[in-house]
Amino acid sequence: MEKIKMTTPLVEMDGDEMTRILWKIIKEELLLPFIDLKTEYYDLGLEHRNETDDQVTFDSAYATRKYGVAVKCATITPNAARMDEYNLKEMWKSPNGTIRAILDGTVFRAPITVKGIEPCVRNWKKPITIARHAYGDVYKASEMKIPGPGKCELVYTDKDGNETRELIHEFAGPGIIQGQHNLNKSIESFARSCFNYALDTKQDLWFATKDTISKKYDHTFKDIFQEIYDAEYAERFQAAGITYFYTLIDDAVARVMKAEGGFIWACKNYDGDVMSDMVSSAFGSLAMMTSVLVSPEGYYEYEAAHGTVQRHYYKHLKGEETSTNSVATIFAWTGALRKRGEMDAIPELSAFADKLEQACLSTIESGKMTKDLALITTLDEPTVLNSQDFIRAVRTTLETLL
Ligand code: NAP
Ligand code: MG
Repeated sequence: MEKIKMTTPLVEMDGDEMTRILWKIIKEELLLPFIDLKTEYYDLGLEHRNETDDQVTFDSAYATRKYGVAVKCATITPNAARMDEYNLKEMWKSPNGTIRAILDGTVFRAPITVKGIEPCVRNWKKPITIARHAYGDVYKASEMKIPGPGKCELVYTDKDGNETRELIHEFAGPGIIQGQHNLNKSIESFARSCFNYALDTKQDLWFATKDTISKKYDHTFKDIFQEIYDAEYAERFQAAGITYFYTLIDDAVARVMKAEGGFIWACKNYDGDVMSDMVSSAFGSLAMMTSVLVSPEGYYEYEAAHGTVQRHYYKHLKGEETSTNSVATIFAWTGALRKRGEMDAIPELSAFADKLEQACLSTIESGKMTKDLALITTLDEPTVLNSQDFIRAVRTTLETLL
């Protein structure tokens, strides 16, 4: 078979620990034999981030703005223990945070559904994708403890020194207070990323806030989404046969439980934090969750939702066998390759991505899987494979599909 040609490079962001090991095997077994793989390589492994004073992370994000599509391996976000372990010059920031800030993007997390791994919620038949707004609200709030009687106000001072005040509460005794904010610009980017991604994946979009109670704050989210939808997206949604649906957050939660799935649920920052953990654990496994960062300009960065699987890496270093699930990392590659295929009009590349995903699912459905899935599958007597043998089994299935 002739290898599939690419015209534009993918931005390849290598990472750390066990996922770095999987990364290499995935390329050798599942990509390089079939594709004339073009990538612009950035080593985001912690050692190289430290050597470059984290410049490599910034460069990889700028490259994503240049080429449009990136694929990222999981990376260590340093903490005190990592400072010693890697002898770091500084406690470098989370690469995901840095990249997200440069691309101004929204993260969409979706479970990979497969026969044999059943969601806890019986009626969920298709994936539910969570989009979390990643700026402001309680995550950038100021808080005070109020020691005793007194008045608390919101005060806005404009650039000429004029003040606008709003009474929060006249305290008669001790209490607590919190000030939150958000930015129209950030909400607009969030809305556009959500609408674009809904069109891209041909799925309905749901959005919910508590606008009946929060008549200015949450209502602004609702209004901005509606204005952008009406002005820029309504016709395209209609043409694509998908809908935008707004409701109250409590109503949304109730409906999600009764729904079949197959839609995107856009959430404010706190709702997204809480609901993405609920939805992902109800779908079965963190190792089966994909993640894509979508910028409002339409740049994409694909990755697995899980981390570097540190515990397995230490076993690997000791020479012990590991059974680490590579499916979400493989799907990061297929997501990026499919998108590159669409952008560059290379249908063979997109078709290859589809077949590779199918090969992963068929392999699992035939009973061959890693340990994490074997523990939760409804299939009888699954075969537990080690990290490398699972990828080889996927290759065998893939070769029959090509
Ligand atoms: P983790 O890597 O997601 O792993 C937590 C546990 O979940 C593992 O110990 C393992 O459980 C299970 N698990 C996760 N992915 C798996 C897979 N592919 N196959 C099988 N089991 C899997 O989280 P962590 O150990 O808390 O974090 C490790 C490092 O990852 C940290 O340095 C953190 O900063 C980084 N991190 C990076 C990203 C990112 O780059 N997007 C995201 C999150 C965390 P068992 O041990 O029970 O088998
Ligand atoms: Mg959380």
